[in-house]
Amino acid sequence: MNTIVALSTPRGRGALAVIRLSGPQAIAIARRMARLDGFEPRHATLTTLRSANDEVLDQVLLTCFPAPHSLTGEDVVEISCHGSPAIVRRILDAILELGAVLAAPGEFTLRALMNGKIDLAQAEAIRDLIAAQTDAAVKQAARQLNGELSNALDPFKQKLIEVIVLLESALEFVEDDLPAPQINQIDETLASVIAGIDRLSQSYTAGRLLRDGAQVAITGRPNVGKSSLFNSLVRSERAIVTDVPGTTRDTLSEAIDIGGVPVVVTDTAGLRETSDNVETLGIERTHRAMGDADLVLVVIDGSSEVGPEDRELLDRTADTRRIVVLNKCDLPAFGSASRCVPGVEAINVSAQTGEGLSNLHSAILAKLNSDATEDGSLLITNARHYDLLCNARRELDVARGCLRDRHSEELVLAPLHNGLKLLGQITGETTTEDILSEIFATFCIGK
Ligand code: GDP
Repeated sequence: MNTIVALSTPRGRGALAVIRLSGPQAIAIARRMARLDGFEPRHATLTTLRSANDEVLDQVLLTCFPAPHSLTGEDVVEISCHGSPAIVRRILDAILELGAVLAAPGEFTLRALMNGKIDLAQAEAIRDLIAAQTDAAVKQAARQLNGELSNALDPFKQKLIEVIVLLESALEFVEDDLPAPQINQIDETLASVIAGIDRLSQSYTAGRLLRDGAQVAITGRPNVGKSSLFNSLVRSERAIVTDVPGTTRDTLSEAIDIGGVPVVVTDTAGLRETSDNVETLGIERTHRAMGDADLVLVVIDGSSEVGPEDRELLDRTADTRRIVVLNKCDLPAFGSASRCVPGVEAINVSAQTGEGLSNLHSAILAKLNSDATEDGSLLITNARHYDLLCNARRELDVARGCLRDRHSEELVLAPLHNGLKLLGQITGETTTEDILSEIFATFCIGK
């Protein structure tokens, strides 16, 4: 096994940079560079690193984590040096000269996985933790890093193993078919595993949103207050607010956190008939943004007459996931939804005073089906895990079908083994090299 090295902090200038080494030569390389005989394990040592020709590279804090009590399970050395790209490069060059090689993306985590320090779901949680955009996403990734997903799957796997053992031994030792009570018992066990898998996989709608976020497009005819609403939502003045109709000609997007869900809000050009080429282009982009959106906010000016453009938009979005927003509720001329848009449920807001915005936040979360984010339950956030859960469930369904139809034990066993294998792939017990390299290619270097 070679010794790998990488810069573990972001590139660029900073107070500190951390370089990490892992592998059998890590401590020997550190000793040579620091001109020291050894280091006290897990204690930071203030020392000066030198190159092979005795040039001073930097004064650093160096910490050794001898195997197996380290992140990767191998000898690990962490060097905190000054955060200058030139210093980092010189230290890395000196380390490479002493025989280490540059780590591939995720290679530290991969080694931790190979040495049984973490399972695959935890390795993926490390990546998600780094990529998390909101507090809620951080909390979910941290729970998975703690092994909660693996723990949640354990009872399912245990039950499947029990059923498999029962059927295998029936196959080996029992002359006659399994008695009916035993078949019923196996069926019940499989039903309970399926129910548990369903509970987990259903949480993916909320989990995916937490991880990947949602696209929300604000649309409406010109001057209803789309840009003002966009600004209130993103709490900044990035969009141009003006009383000249048709000034927002392009789409403008900003990422915000609504109840823990990362939401990209897009302000779009006002929809109306126009002969202006630039405005037409903007309107085309609006249609595209609406098509791409997970949720459309249809803004109507509640203080003026609802016009044909508003009606057309209401008709066109009737079958999309939308929220009708009646804006300008601060004005005396404001009318209720029953007057402005009879038969359509709407949320009253004032983009100007902020009234009704918290209702709008709740309505956005409800429409995105993300109510599971706050209640502290474990969520499936990863498409790979979700697919494996769904495939495992399908296999268990097949097994139940075979069992009910009194097929031979072999026919029941095959899908059960498949199901168990698929669940094992979530934690990496039964994962091939190809899948591993695909997953680790999405990591950043130094992790
Ligand atoms: P857009 O064309 O739909 O993006 O509309 P804007 O956000 O540019 O707003 C058009 C006009 O309506 C501006 O003069 C805003 O100040 C005004 N406006 C927007 N929202 C409100 C509101 O909630 N209350 C009041 N009183 N005026 C608003």
